[in-house]
Amino acid sequence: MEALVRAGVSFLGFEGGEPLLRRDLPAILEEAHARFHTSLVTNGWLLEHRLTEIARHLDVLFVSLDGIGETHDRLRGIPRSFERAVAGIKASRHDVPTVISYTVTRENLDHAERVVELADSLDVGLTVQVAYDYRNAEPMSPDRAGLLQTIERLRDLKRSGAPIMESVEYFDAIVDSWYRGRPWRCKPWLTINIDPTGRIVLPCYVLPEYHGGVPAWEVDIRRLWNSFDWAPYATCNRCALACYLEPSLFRWTNFAHVRERVVAATWRYARRAARDAMRRRPAGPIPIESRDA
Ligand code: SF4
Repeated sequence: MEALVRAGVSFLGFEGGEPLLRRDLPAILEEAHARFHTSLVTNGWLLEHRLTEIARHLDVLFVSLDGIGETHDRLRGIPRSFERAVAGIKASRHDVPTVISYTVTRENLDHAERVVELADSLDVGLTVQVAYDYRNAEPMSPDRAGLLQTIERLRDLKRSGAPIMESVEYFDAIVDSWYRGRPWRCKPWLTINIDPTGRIVLPCYVLPEYHGGVPAWEVDIRRLWNSFDWAPYATCNRCALACYLEPSLFRWTNFAHVRERVVAATWRYARRAARDAMRRRPAGPIPIESRDA
């Protein structure tokens, strides 16, 4: 973590596998939250049980849902996965900003609107990923025509106020690149990926072409970043992972980006910090009437 601080990292996100299987997760998150904004992705199975250990160390909690009800259970291969994930979301949403993470695949393409409705009814956010052209997810990639319809529908829902985290430009960029031959400029250097063995993966985790021989804490990250040849990846456009595409699209000159990503996010963060401070405040003096009583 100190190496990441020195490299200028401000946000640290934990993914899996399933991070809630780690007994030492609260200690790791506590260390991380002392240095960075933090997020965690979970399948929600253990969320209700472990929430109190982790919530105060997180700025955002993502719970993966691959569709509604039996579709999610079937894709996860475990009965009651959906029920337990939703129970976890209901428990967590009051303690930490909670977001449903929905990966669009061929199997759940037709669930997009219902997932949006679920997020809305639970009063939580929604992030949308597309399982498209990953090396290891190709069999689940959505069909081309159906995906276009779904992306355009999600963009329209976003425009009309659905709690989707991705920007309208995010959906437009996918349509422009994958259907109209107008690529976005990918900037994979804006995100550092560290694999489960502690090694840095470059240029991104979809294309793990470089792993390095040593763990991240032994690497001069700035030097590695400045010496890596990023140019071939600028027009890659192979994935549309929001963690790469959204930062790649951000412009300080785009009013909507600044309003949503900076102003609204800062406001939400400040409100939560104030609420947490109120919760931590010691109880005030006992009212005189009570003392007399
Ligand atoms: S579009 Fe960017 S993040 Fe996605 S695979 Fe290509 S280089 Fe990696």
